[in-house]
Amino acid sequence: ENGLPQNLIPPPLPQPCKISEIKHTKIFINNEWHSSLKGKTFPTFNPATGVKICEIEEADKTMETMDTGKPFLQSFFVDLDGSIKTLRYYAGWADKIHGKTMPVDDNFMCFTKHEPVGVCGAIIPWNFPLLMFMWKIAPALCCGNTVVIKPAEQTPLTALYTGALIKEAGFPPGVVNIVPGFGPTAGAAIAGHMGIDKVAFTGSTEVGQLIKEAAAKSNLKRVTLELGGKNPCIVFADADLPLAVQEAQKGAFYNQGQCCTAASRVFVEECVYDEFVRLSIASAKQITAGDPMDPCTSHGPQIDQQQFDMILELVESGKREGARLECGGYALQDKALFIQPAVFSDVIDHMRLAKEEVFGPVQCIMKFKNQEEVIERANSTHYGLAAAVFTRSVERAMRVSSALEAGTVWVNCYNALHAQAPFGGYKMSGNGRELGEYALAEYSEVKAITIKLNDQLTV
Ligand code: NAD
Repeated sequence: ENGLPQNLIPPPLPQPCKISEIKHTKIFINNEWHSSLKGKTFPTFNPATGVKICEIEEADKTMETMDTGKPFLQSFFVDLDGSIKTLRYYAGWADKIHGKTMPVDDNFMCFTKHEPVGVCGAIIPWNFPLLMFMWKIAPALCCGNTVVIKPAEQTPLTALYTGALIKEAGFPPGVVNIVPGFGPTAGAAIAGHMGIDKVAFTGSTEVGQLIKEAAAKSNLKRVTLELGGKNPCIVFADADLPLAVQEAQKGAFYNQGQCCTAASRVFVEECVYDEFVRLSIASAKQITAGDPMDPCTSHGPQIDQQQFDMILELVESGKREGARLECGGYALQDKALFIQPAVFSDVIDHMRLAKEEVFGPVQCIMKFKNQEEVIERANSTHYGLAAAVFTRSVERAMRVSSALEAGTVWVNCYNALHAQAPFGGYKMSGNGRELGEYALAEYSEVKAITIKLNDQLTV
């Protein structure tokens, strides 16, 4: 019809189901659905409309968009796709986890076995509910552990739906248990439980500290933490500028800025600074917020009123402290939780915008003069999750990525995450690594077995 050969016609984009039927709202233990012992329930809301979805059971394949407000195509191509890739990747490891035989002094044979840690607790946030669920259960299961996982109270639906799929797939009862609830009750119970051998957490640094404390005071369970970030994105004058503008903005605004990896401090070399700011403003102004269920929408609402208020308060702090609000940064409608993406220029290191995690669609652009200076400024934060460098020089890319204190450094790209590559933070951004082969160590105990060999063969 459009004159293109058949093999060049792109497949139709996936469409959300207009009505998602919610079936699973209970607690999933031993492959059965249980009511709360105290008969308590809590509501989950659609952040795009403010309408209550249900008191906490199953929905359909669009459920993630409904519960989080993230645009449908992002749920489909990033969250769902990433979840499937994570499961496939770790399924491949399940029969390849083994120890080593090592030569030792004297007449012994010594080898190691990798065994499961036991019961692994997991506490996950609301910004990537399905993906974080898979990042936690996939490595745990392939190493032979069982899991008790608590989804965030704002976004329990896809986890509970996955519970139904887990049962349908034939998992033995008790291998995966899903306990929807609140942090100080259900979450704290996991962190302090004597029968749980390890806890993996993704969320705020403050709660990460509480979890480590509870683990230490109970049974010294192993802890892995994936916490916040104040991630530097460094643009050198020799970079492909349109690419850097596009990727830095993707880093700042993706998922409405609700990413621990958000590009929240964009450092631009002074001779291209004005041009970078100009292009960033033009690009941000093109973003239109809309119904997340509409496949054309690229920008949805914030998760809840508390986050929404906190972001607008930080925008106000930026204006008060003298940063220049170039565009956006205001609420779009009276009742829903939409914020027009903001671009701030002339942000200075001491401002709150440059120091605190905004967790919203706010891009902060800062100027730098030279490489040494920008490395020092980029590293002067308690966080160390991710960083990015834009340059055409391989030497510079290598030097700067080595000098940055971050668990992940992207060169000429942003938010490029893969199931095969480790992910985690330096400094107060966390402990341990998720994804890749590195995560297997977090979910295994290593046992060394040493056998005394007789010098002589006895018959
Ligand atoms: P949070 O850290 O409070 O919640 C994350 C998870 O921890 C949820 O499942 C929550 O129920 C649980 N939790 C809360 N208190 C707990 C406790 N005392 N013991 C055990 N579990 C507990 O995050 P939030 O309130 O949803 O968001 C606040 C800030 O956290 C955000 O502004 C952002 O800075 C940060 N955050 C980071 C990430 C990330 O991916 N690193 C994700 C979400 C939020």
